[in-house]
Amino acid sequence: MFSLQREPLEPMTMARPDAGGYVSFVGRVRNHHVGKAVDGLDYEAFDAMALAEGDKVVREAIERFGVLEARCIHRIGSLNVGDVAIAIEVAAGHRREAFRACEFIIDEVKRRVPIWKRERYADGVEEWVHAWSAAPEALTEEAYYQAQTRLPEVGLEGQDRLRRARVLVIGAGGLGCPAITYLASCGVGTILVADHDVLEGDNLHRQPLFRVADIGRMKADLAAEAVAALNPYVRAESHTVRFDASNAERLIAGCDLVLDCSDNLATKDAANAACVALGVPLVVAGIHRMEGWVLSVDPKSEGGCLRCLWPTASQETRSCAEVGVLGFVPGVLGVFMATEAIKRLTGWGDTLGDRLWLVDLLRMEAQSVQRAKEPGCPVCSSPASLAASEPIALKWGDPALAVGDWALLDLRNDAQFEFPLDWPRLSENELSQGGSGRRVLVLCDRGISSVDVVLKARRRGIHAWSLEHGDIGLRRALGR
Ligand SMILES: [Zn+2]
Repeated sequence: MFSLQREPLEPMTMARPDAGGYVSFVGRVRNHHVGKAVDGLDYEAFDAMALAEGDKVVREAIERFGVLEARCIHRIGSLNVGDVAIAIEVAAGHRREAFRACEFIIDEVKRRVPIWKRERYADGVEEWVHAWSAAPEALTEEAYYQAQTRLPEVGLEGQDRLRRARVLVIGAGGLGCPAITYLASCGVGTILVADHDVLEGDNLHRQPLFRVADIGRMKADLAAEAVAALNPYVRAESHTVRFDASNAERLIAGCDLVLDCSDNLATKDAANAACVALGVPLVVAGIHRMEGWVLSVDPKSEGGCLRCLWPTASQETRSCAEVGVLGFVPGVLGVFMATEAIKRLTGWGDTLGDRLWLVDLLRMEAQSVQRAKEPGCPVCSSPASLAASEPIALKWGDPALAVGDWALLDLRNDAQFEFPLDWPRLSENELSQGGSGRRVLVLCDRGISSVDVVLKARRRGIHAWSLEHGDIGLRRALGR
């Protein structure tokens, strides 16, 4: 499939009755390079490694683009101007796959196969350069990142944290494209891209990681290729699946962080539940017209999860394509997601924490809102927590008051009589320290201020209720 040859190369000809498209590429020795006149050149290969890697490239092209046959021959030894240096030929069912496979082979051979050339210049000087790229040997890993490692807060240590990180990006769309771009260029070592869609023409205006020629291909594959082209020092994995509960554990296992860049609440719901269950932080964002939001779900914090914020999250919403969107709106939010991710991974600065960040690009305004865990959230609260539907107040005489161990927090200012049951009494301070593990009834004058106390207590996981209408309700019930 891939071979090296010392003798002059002739363009190949393939003929197969089952192929409808043939593409052949021929690279010849040019008479100039970076402004210098070239007389000729020598190619030297690290043979065994070049053959193995070249073969791998051609096999990958056949598999990835579904072509029937592909070959690549690279000349080595001494060549003159005009000689054929490399020849590639692909046979495929249709021309489009053939072009793509051919382009993939030439790009990957340039990038991966260890072949060097010594150029002979007209002025008599000879110089070794990498076979196909202008100056890749100058682009060491250190050089690639030098502008960001110069920041003392990142430095080589922060860069190393990024290199060791593994991040799953769900959705390679309007949010995913900018997020993936900056995760890759900043040096996140392993990026998994999960997306089950093919690229459509109307995606391009908000998904600038892709090109017109990519239409019809799987976006996860395209994103992984774009990452490889952007940064040779990171690795991207393509997963052409729709993220859901059935594959969540397999995809998230071993990840340090998940970015939900999907455009629908069913997927966000699934990502939220899986990340909470597996204890992996999630950065999630959404947009609507010119507005957007971002938040981080940290299973270790008290800020709660996506479901705490939107209890009816599974309702249907309309996609960007249906509502209409300007491409830069998911662009801004996607970059913000990458910002949050990089800061979490390097540990530099404050992250969003338990705040919901909202931005209005029409008015150029942003604000952040504190979030809190919802007691009884079916996703993130402990199984013993109260259901979200549990009433805040109980009437005197409610059967629930006869079940279990109760304590009373008496907040009445002018109590005319003693509470009729001999429950232990709690102070507000004791309640804030956990309520001694009992159910707590909060009694105030009219049953209003007790509601606030109950809501605050429930946010801390305490099982508390207000007595409806407070002292007034109690006296009425007891006929006093
Ligand atoms: Zn929750």
